[in-house]
Amino acid sequence: MKQKKLPQRMCVGCQEIKNKKEMVRIVRTPTGEVVIDLTGKKSGRGAYICHNEICFSKAYKEKRLEKALKQPIGGELYEQLRLGVIQDDKSKVTESARIGTKSR
Ligand SMILES: [Zn+2]
Repeated sequence: MKQKKLPQRMCVGCQEIKNKKEMVRIVRTPTGEVVIDLTGKKSGRGAYICHNEICFSKAYKEKRLEKALKQPIGGELYEQLRLGVIQDDKSKVTESARIGTKSR
């Protein structure tokens, strides 16, 4: 009998191993773009991070995301990614709403 295991990945922020489903995948595509992969199916080098701002700030401060993706990430891109990562973090609703008003 095979036990069905959920795929697990390490968060680039807190560095804890968690189920893939609880995390966001960030991918560097073959064209060099860094995007949030909500489907989990994009090709490219991926990094996983928890759905929260704490992990994101850690990854940012220690440049772990850049290291994981082997790609430098600028401030603007970081902000975009941050919004994507924390969008499901209900505790941060006010902040994403604040920034959300000016984009689009
Ligand atoms: Zn984390």
